[in-house]
Amino acid sequence: MSYSVKFTLNHEQDTQRFAQILSEQVHSGIIYLIGDLGAGKTTFTRYFLQNLGHQGSVKSPTYTLVEPYTIHGKEIFHFDLYRLNDPYELELMGIRDYLDVADALFLFEWPSKGGDEIPKPDIVIDMQKSEDELTRFVTLTTNSESLSQSLQEQLNGA
Ligand code: ADP
Ligand code: MG
Repeated sequence: MSYSVKFTLNHEQDTQRFAQILSEQVHSGIIYLIGDLGAGKTTFTRYFLQNLGHQGSVKSPTYTLVEPYTIHGKEIFHFDLYRLNDPYELELMGIRDYLDVADALFLFEWPSKGGDEIPKPDIVIDMQKSEDELTRFVTLTTNSESLSQSLQEQLNGA
């Protein structure tokens, strides 16, 4: 992962805009969402799915591990591994069947809990809260130079 973009999200609307920009450019692959509870991982995912055209609610799959979506024929799987005790539980829940879906997009909250059961990421989004909890400091890392440049231009104006 060679390219990092850093930016600040001062309001939830900034997170909405970031999700919109990313949803226009990323259509498949593996996204890791890293950050403490309340950092905004699920909020980001909600805006991301809504920007793609999802109209219903976006529930946090904390207990179900995964929430599947089909949006305009595109398959998207939102995982939250926070409550996973052992990565092997992912085998038992049939993660391979999900991972076999061609051209799908996978969003993983708490990927560190998945061990080797989950694929390596194409994009890592690290969200950290400021001390007053109002601002989110984000570092996005990717192998795609063009994506990093585009995000740099759109989010940092440079
Ligand atoms: P996580 O999934 O990382 O545990 P959530 O997305 O469930 O976090 O919760 C984030 C909370 O922080 C929400 O209540 C949201 O309204 C609030 N919030 C405030 N500012 C932001 C921001 N800039 N981006 C995302 N969430 C924000
Ligand atoms: Mg969450």
